[in-house]
Amino acid sequence: MNEKLRIIESSWDERAKALEKSHPLKTLKALPKMEGITSSTAKHLKAKGLFYLIKHDKNKIFLRYFFKKPLKYAASLIRSYLKPSSFSRDGDLFFYGLQDKNSFKKIASSENPLIIIGFSYCHKPFECPSGRFSDQCQNAEDHPVCSQCFIGKCGALAKHTNAKILYIPTIHYIGEKIFEATVQNPDKQVLFLITACELSLTMFGDWGNMIGAKGIGIRLDGRICNTMRAFKLSEEGIKPGLTVVLKDSEEHMLDLIRSLPLRTGAFS
Ligand code: SF4
Repeated sequence: MNEKLRIIESSWDERAKALEKSHPLKTLKALPKMEGITSSTAKHLKAKGLFYLIKHDKNKIFLRYFFKKPLKYAASLIRSYLKPSSFSRDGDLFFYGLQDKNSFKKIASSENPLIIIGFSYCHKPFECPSGRFSDQCQNAEDHPVCSQCFIGKCGALAKHTNAKILYIPTIHYIGEKIFEATVQNPDKQVLFLITACELSLTMFGDWGNMIGAKGIGIRLDGRICNTMRAFKLSEEGIKPGLTVVLKDSEEHMLDLIRSLPLRTGAFS
């Protein structure tokens, strides 16, 4: 790891530890035992996902982009639908078009891809100064909440890399951003690293495969959405519960961010 990134990370950790006592955040007292997707929700999930995307696509994002390359996208979508699963999984890591973390690192360091790091809004702290249901993150260095927030820690490292960072309020928001990145950079591989509930990671994987994006989904735990009803409410900003990235997954995500190439001029 770059020495300057290491120093940023360890001073961030020290500050967060001190603030845990002086400005404790509201956290989950215990992790609820929730299945990732309820058995009734799991039935016909691909069809439910397709129906949801079309029905709630107020700005016609998916149709607009789909018809830019209808034959190519239709063929890739059908190919993905015909596979038993749109991803492979290792614990809380979901791989799309990749075998493992090393294949992510290899593309990141050798193919000059367009890298997108996305955080679902539902694991922003309740006290987030930018608001939870928002695509904003002020990540203020001296703010006692930002200084303890996992998204803030990732952002403090990732801003020195060539990744684009997004805060995801809805599936249509991230879908549009990934479509946009693909269309505007036809010569580049889109490589993503995104936190989301198991339901979203399972339901929308085919769409990432359709576009040809590769990446890793980090499964959230805590008060996740495991039914279509909870998912729809969350997409409208109704999400009273907090989701969390589990400790092991945090370390995987940080390890991947640390491995990204630094942006030109970082630390100069
Ligand atoms: S770092 Fe961003 S997401 Fe975290 S509390 Fe600050 S503004 Fe909110």
